[in-house]
Amino acid sequence: MGLNVIMMGAPGACKGTQADRFARERGLPKISTGDMLREGIKEQNPVALEAKKLMDRGELVDDATIIAIVRDRLARPDTRPGFVLDGFPRTVGQAAALDTLMDERGQGPLVVIDVVVPEQELVRRLGSRRICGHCGTNAEAGKASCGKCGGALVTRADDDGQVVLERLKIYERATRPVLDYYRARPTFRTVNGAQAAEQVARDVDRMIDDAAASKRMAGERRVSARVAE
Ligand code: ADP
Repeated sequence: MGLNVIMMGAPGACKGTQADRFARERGLPKISTGDMLREGIKEQNPVALEAKKLMDRGELVDDATIIAIVRDRLARPDTRPGFVLDGFPRTVGQAAALDTLMDERGQGPLVVIDVVVPEQELVRRLGSRRICGHCGTNAEAGKASCGKCGGALVTRADDDGQVVLERLKIYERATRPVLDYYRARPTFRTVNGAQAAEQVARDVDRMIDDAAASKRMAGERRVSARVAE
């Protein structure tokens, strides 16, 4: 059974940082649709270049494009032991498509972590976020250059004031319903993302392990129910 995790949270919740760290520590691939689109733009991929127009306005790329990207990525063998999704699903349509993909994989339920941060704090964080202009990594607080490659830091085009508010609005409209789609599942967990990063990290780890354990139990219950039939 794979450890298949979705990291949810509003723009600025630092879910990307947590997803990176968790995936690295557990040796799982981190799959970020935003990163894949930005790589596609660098490589002048026509689909990604079309998507860029929407991304620069803070709007969502259409479900069919995103689902196709994720389907191809999840088909690669490095995802067999599990994966960490960041930035996907962002609509109920994407979540439903992912459920279909997961049924085909036969790896049991997804672990869904929602990193919760109050809106005021999100706006503050996004306004001051810098990324590396070279490799795209989020900059660490107080650093003058990228900790990974030494590249110069820049503001991401879609972290610009007006665009930030637009992204938060779209998050509320399109992505909040995804949380409701998952909330009732026994493998759904929330983490307080307003805490210090180290505490968020500890809570994320604990919640994922806890949800994965309940997923195993659910799997075993299903097996014993079948045996009893
Ligand atoms: P954030 O920093 O808000 O998490 P991302 O890097 O995940 O942003 O995504 C940047 C942009 O890429 C989004 O604003 C959107 O235009 C596009 N995008 C990324 N993932 C998706 C998705 N799952 N569905 C639709 N659009 C997406």
